[in-house]
Amino acid sequence: MVAVHLREEEFKGRFVLSRSVKHVCKLCRRENMKLFLKGERCYTDKCSFERRPYPPGQHGQSRVKFSEFALQLREKQKVKRVYGVFEDQFRRYFREASKSKGVTGESLLLKLERRLDNTIYLLGYASSRNEARHLVKHSHFLVNGKKVNLPSFELKKGDVIEVHEKSRQMNKILAGIESTKRREIPKWLEPMHTEFKAVIKDLPARDDVTFPVEEHMIVEYYSR
Ligand code: SF4
Repeated sequence: MVAVHLREEEFKGRFVLSRSVKHVCKLCRRENMKLFLKGERCYTDKCSFERRPYPPGQHGQSRVKFSEFALQLREKQKVKRVYGVFEDQFRRYFREASKSKGVTGESLLLKLERRLDNTIYLLGYASSRNEARHLVKHSHFLVNGKKVNLPSFELKKGDVIEVHEKSRQMNKILAGIESTKRREIPKWLEPMHTEFKAVIKDLPARDDVTFPVEEHMIVEYYSR
């Protein structure tokens, strides 16, 4: 059995840039699940996690006993990496969630779910959250008729997202729309792909977060 020694830089939340596009497959292997960070490649047999479903490094295939702290840290890192947010921003989300009326862990996830970049990805306008962030930053979308280039923009019920008229023939966006035939769009979103529009029909619920996560562990991590 191998004891897990957390690397100092990981403890400080600096282990591998969450937005780095290099070696992102290692992040999936580290978190022991597919994080879908590389777009279409994630759905093919070229996916590294499919071929090597164990953590990277020389002890990757050893049996490991994680401490409670390590498990909580992994859960937090996993969520940060899925949504591609940095530590400071994630802490801010956590603080806001803890002040909200609902259950903190759940509120945290639902705030992240309502980010504009995440929604663009879920709607199929981008093949990954990373690509969605990039498209948003380059002003390819409007919200309620106004240009929004802030990936963290938090959407509300009734908001209308629209692909900018000049961007409607972009290959990435057209390919993304095509890919929605293969993946399901969450029920809180109402896409109107023929008009390059979508409506936030409702706020997401906990069930709409489909990747496995035990959010109470994140709350425990920050409550230490
Ligand atoms: Fe993760 Fe596989 Fe996508 Fe790489 S290709 S980012 S391992 S899901």
